[in-house]
Amino acid sequence: ALTIGIVGLPNVGKSTMFNALTKNQVLAANYPFATIEPNIGVVELPDERLTRLAEIFGSGKILPATVNFVDIAGIVRGASEGEGLGNQFLANIREADAICQVIRGFSDSDVVHVDGKVNPADDIDTINTELILADLQTLERALPRIEKEVKQKRAEPEVLAAMQEAQGILEEGRTLYQAMQADGFDAAPLRELQLMTTKPFLYVFNVDDDVLADEAKKDEMRALVAPVEAIFLDAKFESELAELDDEEAAEMLEMSGQDEAGLDQLARVGFNTLGLQTYLTAGPKEARAWTIRKGWTAPEAAGVIHTDFQKGFIKAEIVSFDDLDALGSMAEARAAGKVRMEGKDYVMVDGDVVEFRFNV
Ligand code: GDP
Repeated sequence: ALTIGIVGLPNVGKSTMFNALTKNQVLAANYPFATIEPNIGVVELPDERLTRLAEIFGSGKILPATVNFVDIAGIVRGASEGEGLGNQFLANIREADAICQVIRGFSDSDVVHVDGKVNPADDIDTINTELILADLQTLERALPRIEKEVKQKRAEPEVLAAMQEAQGILEEGRTLYQAMQADGFDAAPLRELQLMTTKPFLYVFNVDDDVLADEAKKDEMRALVAPVEAIFLDAKFESELAELDDEEAAEMLEMSGQDEAGLDQLARVGFNTLGLQTYLTAGPKEARAWTIRKGWTAPEAAGVIHTDFQKGFIKAEIVSFDDLDALGSMAEARAAGKVRMEGKDYVMVDGDVVEFRFNV
């Protein structure tokens, strides 16, 4: 499954947020055959469309898409020098599909900041620096080999050019993901090098509740990471929310003046950051969202349900959620000509409601 690795300096609220993530644990109830690992938090992606589908199809159960978060403990200054813990830290980051950095924005004087003061810009810099140094090392080590391969015509010159451009970006203290987002830097030729800062990033500012309502303060923090996505939440509040049942949690959320729980927001933004989307299936048993990458074809999407669905794919019967919602039933959607038969080259669209036809 796709996972987002959570990183951050000590005492920024990572464990607090992660506990909230794991308390929210839906895996055990809804996905009884999945294994639960202690350092993985699974968050459901709230999706109103499933409620509506369950109503139309009389589904007994709703199964939203999920996002996995992995706790990557132990960033240490000097991680890129590859000593003990540092090595482990970098190895864990290499395995994650995206990186989520938690940054301290709350101002509790009882909680010591590792650097003695709350300074989001420095926190971001500290972690970025370790990742940037590690990538620079990877590039420097690979350069002589790639130069040789280009001379022997075993590697494309564009790989070398991209490596040199990447070095320049990193030496300016920027991550490659920032350059991809801000200047359209193309990291595709570098894929083989598995550079860490090419992974999608997102930032979570763990702030006091008054900051949640303060757009000017939030803009200041957003500016520190722009154009990369920033989320604001109060980890302590989130861990309290996670203790409550749905109804109580909704009430408490409303009282706090927020329109979406921070963890829900995190799941939603994380999902987009990973370049994912969902398609939907529904019947009397369940209404369910399935996770795919943007650009996947119908057979690839079918493979997420079962590999046999992909191998034996014949066609897919598809209606867009919006059409089905407006018309109110499959029969009406069919009568209105909104239910299409799509073949193996069809590229899935977010919100497609699908029934696959396949040979076994
Ligand atoms: P970690 O080292 O990054 O995992 O940080 P912890 O989650 O252990 O948090 C460090 C301390 O900060 C703990 O005492 C938490 O209770 C406290 N803390 C975490 N989040 C918040 C927050 O949003 N507000 C306040 N006031 N304290 C927090």
